[in-house]
Amino acid sequence: MFAVKSARLVISNDGEELLELTVEPWADIHRIPPKGTCVVVTHSPAEEDAWGGTSYGDEPFEVEHRPDSVTVWANGHCFHLSDREGNLIEEGAYGGGCPARNPATRRRS
Ligand SMILES: [Zn+2]
Repeated sequence: MFAVKSARLVISNDGEELLELTVEPWADIHRIPPKGTCVVVTHSPAEEDAWGGTSYGDEPFEVEHRPDSVTVWANGHCFHLSDREGNLIEEGAYGGGCPARNPATRRRS
């Protein structure tokens, strides 16, 4: 079984206006409606000590907040955006693809 690390970040819009969510470094923009919630998931191969997008340990995400928008940096190899029920909204990955879905392409010598 191919092991991957997985991290989930739940973002809820508790305001009255649309909240703009940007997932970096893919620059993927999604708008969360008032009272809406979405989940950002990122994966990294388990054999890597740190999350690839950061030089600090154990930081799968970084969040930058502005008055009407929020930017999430996903430090794994990919991101998956879904609602709380797990319905996929958007996803992206670096060249090697998502390590949770394409284990063959992640093999290293
Ligand atoms: Zn993934």
